[in-house]
Amino acid sequence: MRPSDPAAPGSGGLVDRHGRVATDLRVSLTDRCNLRCTYCMPPEGLDWLPKVEVLTDEEIIRLVRIGVEQLGIREVRFTGGEPLLRPGLPGIVAAATALRPRPEVSLTTNAIGLSRMAPALAAAGLDRINVSLDTLDRARFKQHTHRDRLPDVLAGLQAAKDAGLTPVKVNAVLLRGINEDDALPLLEYCLEHGYELRFIEQMPLDAHHAWTRSEMVTAEDILGRLTATHTLVPDVEDRGAAPAERWLVDDTGLTVGIIASVTRSFCGACDRTRLTADGQIRNCLFAREESDLRTALRNGASDAELADRWRIATLSKLPGHGIDDPSFLQPSRPMSAIGG
Ligand code: SAM
Ligand code: SF4
Repeated sequence: MRPSDPAAPGSGGLVDRHGRVATDLRVSLTDRCNLRCTYCMPPEGLDWLPKVEVLTDEEIIRLVRIGVEQLGIREVRFTGGEPLLRPGLPGIVAAATALRPRPEVSLTTNAIGLSRMAPALAAAGLDRINVSLDTLDRARFKQHTHRDRLPDVLAGLQAAKDAGLTPVKVNAVLLRGINEDDALPLLEYCLEHGYELRFIEQMPLDAHHAWTRSEMVTAEDILGRLTATHTLVPDVEDRGAAPAERWLVDDTGLTVGIIASVTRSFCGACDRTRLTADGQIRNCLFAREESDLRTALRNGASDAELADRWRIATLSKLPGHGIDDPSFLQPSRPMSAIGG
């Protein structure tokens, strides 16, 4: 690298060689989960990270602080695995919201335990929450997640709303032959409760590598289902780097979104960087390489050294995920271990 390279380490933000700037940090707090969604984890037999390899609360807070204070991170989303399984979550959220400049702090969760935790998270300053919910049918939920926990999820959603963590967003992934026909019931439920629904196209990030392009439910399929009974008008608000395309539904004033990560990829506008629960920086969900901050951190690296490693890890971000390339290889870690 030339010293005049705009992305040279030593100062500035997280810039890659294609000119994108990462300002949105996804932090996986754990690879563990209390569900086993079929598109994410196998029903059994996935080894957890050894505890000693998982970052402590203090280590996570330090790296998030470096991101915000030195690298221009403006948004921090905590995810996993299931982030509510991390006992120190309210303290981690409070530490993130105390940083200056204050980042937007959000959480992606399956909502199990949220009915108990929502007030503490709101008190810690959490700005927003996304709850994953793929079906409203209890038997189907149990079959799809391998756990009978639908009532806990619905109670968690209500608790988030009651705690003022609004707008509550609901993430749904549709699978062909499993829950495609949940699209409309999910939309009706979210309209009724004032939740903002977003469908996410299934990506090849399952632990058992069973995803196929021909079997996935596409954004076009989803739109076809929704417009059969609802009028959707494109939301003209500037999308920026947001991955969801949004539509206003009927005259409700509420929107539904679709994140078409596969069929309408938005890699050119990507502003994300990721920290795994074991302290690896990933510059893309689909990256095949990671950059180890944990070892450097535990060996006494300074904040400036860690920031430089993070900048260097960002430089090599590929222009796109390449799912449609014949040479595409799925990352070895599943979504639950990367942090969705
Ligand atoms: N456990 C939390 C949850 O389910 O919300 C947080 C982690 S989960 C990995 C984050 C998001 O990734 C969820 O909305 C989930 O539906 C989504 N996800 C997991 N595997 C996926 C896949 N193969 N394709 C698309 N989305 C996926
Ligand atoms: Fe767990 Fe979330 Fe993966 Fe489902 S999507 S298995 S809730 S990490």
